[in-house]
Amino acid sequence: MNVEHILSEKGRQVVTIGPEASLMDAGRMLSEKRIGAVVVADPGNPVLGILSERDIVRAVATNGVAALDQPVSRYMTAKVVTCTTRSAINDLMETMTRGKFRHVPIVEDGRLIGIVSIGDVVKFRVAEIESESRALRDYIATA
Ligand code: AMP
Repeated sequence: MNVEHILSEKGRQVVTIGPEASLMDAGRMLSEKRIGAVVVADPGNPVLGILSERDIVRAVATNGVAALDQPVSRYMTAKVVTCTTRSAINDLMETMTRGKFRHVPIVEDGRLIGIVSIGDVVKFRVAEIESESRALRDYIATA
């Protein structure tokens, strides 16, 4: 199974923010949208970086509340690991586990077309396991 399966379920909407926005703006956005990370983008680059709730916590722990007035570009991760709709979900799980991050933007032909979170992956795997066990039970019952 590949990322397309998740994307067709959850849709292609991605929340983005500009690099000059403040950390406070980013925090408000995460809270309002009930998400854990935003992709940092500008008109010339759809994935300049990624900023997650962990980056905000780390910024405030290191620099105090003054960090909240500083630009997102200062605290984002600039080297973003991305995937495509053809990426295997098992590989993506391994990438997230190894890299210790929970969000992976989906990029194709230089365009940002979606984002997968660890929550999306877990939801997909649980549904897959449930359907496998249902099929096995049906098979045993009719054998
Ligand atoms: P997360 O677990 O996604 O909240 O992110 C944990 C840390 O990894 C934060 O410093 C993020 O900026 C960073 N991060 C999140 N997603 C990615 C990604 N796809 N590629 C690289 N770094 C990431």
